[in-house]
Formats: sequence, structure tokens, C-alpha cells
Amino acid sequence: MTAPLHLFNSLTRAIETFTPVHPGEARVYTCGPTVYNYPHIGNMRAYVFADLLGRTLSWKGYALTHVINITDVGHLTDDADAGEDKLEKAASARKQSIWDIADHYTQAYWADVRALNIRQPAEWTIATKFVPQMLEFAESIADRHCYELESGLYFDVSTVADYGRLARTSTDEGESRIEAVEGKRHPADFAIWRKTPPGESRQMEWDSPWGRGAPGWHLECSVMSGALLGFPFDIHTGGIDHREIHHPNEIAQNQAYCCTNGLDNPANSGAKLWMHNNFLVDRSGKMSKSAGEFLRLPLLAEKGYHPLAYRMMCLQAHYRSELEFSWEGLGAALTRLKRLVMAVEALKSRTDAGIPADGWTQLKAHDEVGGTLLPLLARFDEAISDDLNTAVALTVLEDLLSLKKIDPAEKLTAVAAMDAVLGLGLLALTRADLRIRPKDAAVTEVEIEDALARRKAARAQKDFATSDAIRDELAVKGVEVMDGDPLGWEWKL
Ligand code: AMP
Ligand code: ZN
Repeated sequence: MTAPLHLFNSLTRAIETFTPVHPGEARVYTCGPTVYNYPHIGNMRAYVFADLLGRTLSWKGYALTHVINITDVGHLTDDADAGEDKLEKAASARKQSIWDIADHYTQAYWADVRALNIRQPAEWTIATKFVPQMLEFAESIADRHCYELESGLYFDVSTVADYGRLARTSTDEGESRIEAVEGKRHPADFAIWRKTPPGESRQMEWDSPWGRGAPGWHLECSVMSGALLGFPFDIHTGGIDHREIHHPNEIAQNQAYCCTNGLDNPANSGAKLWMHNNFLVDRSGKMSKSAGEFLRLPLLAEKGYHPLAYRMMCLQAHYRSELEFSWEGLGAALTRLKRLVMAVEALKSRTDAGIPADGWTQLKAHDEVGGTLLPLLARFDEAISDDLNTAVALTVLEDLLSLKKIDPAEKLTAVAAMDAVLGLGLLALTRADLRIRPKDAAVTEVEIEDALARRKAARAQKDFATSDAIRDELAVKGVEVMDGDPLGWEWKL
């Protein structure tokens, strides 16, 4: 009746059946953004994925505790130990307070989170609020696992078993791209505390047994995940780049802290499963934050694409596949979303039943959805339980919407249940929401509607010359009139 939940564990490189550490619960930690700049839409793919995972765990009936962190200190321009702190660098380049920068970009990130229907986690942990816990953690592992250099306190990766298993690298190999810090015992050793160089000061720095300075980025995630979820917790997520350095280093610290050994038992890593989304790639280079106009969510809206078209684009691909961005692809995702919204609007107009949009679990859906729709519900559950196969789940939703002769309230209940997992907000979205006017469009919506009303009147009088003239006028302004569109859209830009 309910399919077992199968998820891909990057640590074992195998599909595993999810079995929670604490019965009935699911505890998930997601590496959050470094708030020195706006997130690009590739970054947001990581959170759409984490949200989908959280929604799926809720669907399967687990009480979910999801934590996402905000990195406002410690992430260097290189993921290893080279370069400057990303936030310090942004603050000195812009002559602004680092706290203002962190706040500004955190707010921008949260706006994108809301626009993409990413559910609020149980907790947003802000790294700078956890410095005392970070010091405590570092002190507890310093004697046995760390050594001090002039530049800070370093973790000796040879002191834990199976270092680098997640990345499939070992202590001395695979990290050749990391610039050597003088005195490091192994190239893969990493700073867990970075001392402020003599004669310099940082906007963000704290006292420590190793001198004034700032925590390392890897330390933050170990500390915040352990403090809020307890080791071992269920699932740790991030983008696939984190599989190479950040997460292997977190794992090494967790092993050191928990006094556990090898990773043959994945739980010794601090989490039972490590899950990673693949990248959104853009061949035009617009994903780079150093490019002038990079691909941010608000830019999509400026060009006339609703943010949820991007969520749809993500859901059409499997989270472990690379996804190539193109405006055509985004347009196709928007069209698909429009079709769903139209079909749901039609259903809503045929029933007064107040159907809740969320709070759905597979069991609740099974109880409340009529018998004829249960096979579809089961197919949906199978798809989503198969390592989050959203591509198939979407086709099941479309099959549901195309069914004839089913009571609209019953159909809408099933839509609500499925969308609680997909998170497209289908019960709330309207056609009007999806019709966004690009920022540089030459006409306003009111002008378009007015022209269309005049055209309709002319056609009613059989004055086709005027009707055609209005159509041509609109075409010049970039508006295409869509007579006879199967979806009932009157125009598009
Ligand atoms: P950052 O703010 O750089 O720490 O990145 C935030 C999240 O976005 C991390 O989980 C990264 O792994 C992820 N990420 C970065 N670039 C991409 C991309 N192009 N596609 C998908 N995820 C990405
Ligand atoms: Zn992290």
C-alpha cells in the first residue's frame, strides 16, 4: 500500500531504504547559503531539492525537523583554506559593515525561498550565533585531532578512519588543487580556526585558545547540525560540490567529536545518509556571480517567467541529474505549469468543497481520496518513493487531471495531496499570477486588455478590418493575440 522510501546515499553510492534514527521522526540538515551575494538560481536548486526531500518525508508520515544554516562567517573564496573570507572581502570591497551585508543577502535569499514555495524549516541557524558552541567543539577535539600553525588550528585528517570516503579520495590524494598552507601535515588538512594575522583586524572575530580569529566553514556545519539534531541524525544535504571537500571535512570532525571510527557504518559520519543535488548548468556563463547580470530568481520574473516555472523546471529533472538552463526550457516549464493551473482552476470552479492545500500524508490521502483514484495515488507514491522521481510523479498528476467523469471535489483532493509533495502551489495559483509582464515590455496589462476589449467589440460587429488592425498594433508592441488557444489564454508577450 505504501511504498518503502528509497534514497540514494552518496556515502555508500547506493540506493538505501530510509529507516529513521528515531522512530517516526526525520531529522535533516541542509547546508545553507553563504550570504555575501545574491543566490543564483543554481544555488536555489539545492533548496528546492532539500524542500522536496522534506515534503516527501512529511508525506511518508515522519515528523520532520529540518535545519538550514546561514553562513555569515568562515567561508573562504576557495572551499579549502586558500583565499579570503567571502563576507570580509565583500565588506571591504563595498566599504560596508559585514553585518549589513549578511543581513541584506539573507533577506534576499529568504525572498527567493518564499517565491519558490520552499517550506520554512524548523530552524534557520545563523553561524555567528553559534561561535561559543564552535569553540567548545574545537576544544574537545583539539588535543587528539588538531595541530596549531601560525595561521590557525588545523585538523589532521590522518587521525580519523576512512577520510575522504564520501569524495572517494584519501588523505594525500585528490586535493592537489588546494593550495598548500605552509606547515600542513597533509594537503587535505584544513583549518578549523583561522587566526587573524598579526597587525590585521577583521570585522568578525572572536577570542579563542588559539588567538583571536574566526571559525572555519566546515566546523560551523558540524557544530550546528550536531547541536540541533544530535549525532547521528538522518540526512545531510547539499550541492554535489560539497561532496568533494566540505562534507568530507564535516564528516572527519564529526568522527573526531563522536569518538567513533570507520565509515563502514555510515552513521559514524554524523548522519545516516548524505544526499547531494546535481548542478544547474548554464553554458552562457550567467551563473557566475562575478558576471554582471547573473541568473537570479528576480531576473526570471523581470523577463516574464513566474518563479514557480523554475521550480517546475527543477522537478522535471531528477535531482541527481545535471540540469541545463535555457530560456526555452524555462518557457516550456511555464507552459506546463499553466496547463496544470488551468485544469485546477476548472476543477475549482466546479466545486465549493474547501480542500486544504497542505498537511497531507500518504495515509491521510489514502483515507480521503476516493477508491477510483487510489491506483493513481499509489503510482504517485511509488514514483516519489523511488529516490524522489518527480519526473514520473508529474506525469501521474497530469494523468489524474486528464481523467474524465470523476467528481471534481474528489479529483481536487487528490491534486492537493500530490501537490503537497511537489510544492507548486496549484490550489492557490491563478492564471493571472502566471501572466507576468516583462519589465521591458512596451505595453501595460491594462492597455492590452483594453485593446482586446475593443477588438472583441469590432469582431462582434463583423468589423474585421478594425479587429485585424488592433491585432497588428499589439503585435508591434510584442503582444501575440492567441485566438482559439486550447488553454484559453488570450494573449502572450
Ligand atoms: P553557497 O552559497 O556557495 O555555499 O552555495 C549554496 C548551495 O548551492 C550549496 O549547496 C551548493 O552546493 C549549491 N550550488 C552551487 N552552485 C550550484 C549549481 N550551479 N547548481 C546547483 N546547486 C548549486
Ligand atoms: Zn555546510
